[in-house]
Amino acid sequence: MDEQTGKIRCDACPVLCYIREGMLGACDRYANRGGVLTRVDPHVLLERTVKAGGDVVPFLPSSREWDGRVVREPETFVTALGAGTTYPDYKPAPFIVSSEVDGVDMVTVVTEGIFSYCGLKVKIDTDRHLGNECAPVRVAGEQIGHVTTAEYGSQMLSLGGVRHLTGGSKKEGRTACESMLALANGKPVEVSVDGGATVVIEAGKAPIINGVREERMRVGCGSATIGMFAQQWMGLVDEVVVVDDHITGVLSEHQAGKFLGVRDTGIKMKGHRSTPGRYFKVAHPGTGWGGTDLTNPLDILKPFDPKEAWPGLRMLMVSTTGEHFAYYELDTALTAVEKDLPPALKLSVERIQENCEPALSTVLFMAGAGGSLRAGVTENPVRLTSSVKHALTRVTAGGAACYVWPGGGITYMVDVTTLPENAFGSVPTPALVAPIEFTMTKADYAAMGGHMDQVRSLDSILRDETKKRIPRG
Ligand code: SF4
Repeated sequence: MDEQTGKIRCDACPVLCYIREGMLGACDRYANRGGVLTRVDPHVLLERTVKAGGDVVPFLPSSREWDGRVVREPETFVTALGAGTTYPDYKPAPFIVSSEVDGVDMVTVVTEGIFSYCGLKVKIDTDRHLGNECAPVRVAGEQIGHVTTAEYGSQMLSLGGVRHLTGGSKKEGRTACESMLALANGKPVEVSVDGGATVVIEAGKAPIINGVREERMRVGCGSATIGMFAQQWMGLVDEVVVVDDHITGVLSEHQAGKFLGVRDTGIKMKGHRSTPGRYFKVAHPGTGWGGTDLTNPLDILKPFDPKEAWPGLRMLMVSTTGEHFAYYELDTALTAVEKDLPPALKLSVERIQENCEPALSTVLFMAGAGGSLRAGVTENPVRLTSSVKHALTRVTAGGAACYVWPGGGITYMVDVTTLPENAFGSVPTPALVAPIEFTMTKADYAAMGGHMDQVRSLDSILRDETKKRIPRG
């Protein structure tokens, strides 16, 4: 502490704030309380007995279901939430906790990691075209990510990452960091895609696209929808077209229609024919029917073949979510004329809608455990990596299960909704702060060159944490 100013220096991250008595540092995580550097958020301990739907997530199934390959956790689990940070890298992690599980001595190494290498993978359940692949995604005009490869029924965004955090202007880094922090903590963020849509993303909630809340995730592509419902249309209609930006299905030509003996209708489609009854690129991507730019589905049809079509032919056109539908009958000139949807067909459209799951935004936090994290666990960091790879060490984030990528390093992903509330923080470097815990047997910890002299018993930590709990103010 500086005697003259009463300021103390926080060395928990490279910003190295000088903090006056009673004030918070730049990240709002550390304060000067009576000349003592104090982590202001309460340190979170999880009890395995916490019920689902409670304040914090429960643990994975109990040790009885352990298959012998994955490390078990103690009944009370010391998370990294509020634990503090290891910086500079050579310091041991803030908490290295020993406990006994089923007669086996275990160690959990707990730290709040500062991640410059981190990003969010966002899955948005919608057919609507949000933007072309690789199109920039912006918040307040700053690029914070891009559109990446679409998945089945979902559009995908890749947000944040080291290039946006450190490689652009200060404003870009700050905006990327703030946006990631909000999303990771379950708050809504509106993004805009260049040449595409605006989307309000909120983890675990329906996306709002161009101001409209998305209701449903598609039941399948156009071809799959034909296959699933073909039998239910028999006798009710002569032709069905399921409009889809990717694969539009046509009942009479589709294998499902052929098996069921559907008669040729002379329908002629625009777009590229892939296989019988499956068409690509019938229109442009958009926010209309089935993720196309169509407002009138008849625009994807060429004139019916007069050799096969007949006046009175009944045709249903429907989108992959059942949100859009229209019923037509051919007149004497073989022109499709829209009519009211017969009640029996209405049921089949409702069945498509019923089979669509609610549309959600899913946010996965992805990060790589770097130097400070690994050195905080062991003097020989590569041994930690190897131990994780061999499933001797279990990685959790605020007690939540993580997926660790194969290959080099410890690159992990976690669904942000499985962490306790407001589990993420940030520092102005800019970088995100996220809890991470490594749990292993004490013997494995010793073997990897762990900081054995820093291991403390769970009881002593519980005692200390109860004593020093300080309200935030
Ligand atoms: S930003 Fe936070 S962690 Fe970093 S030095 Fe300042 S108070 Fe400490």
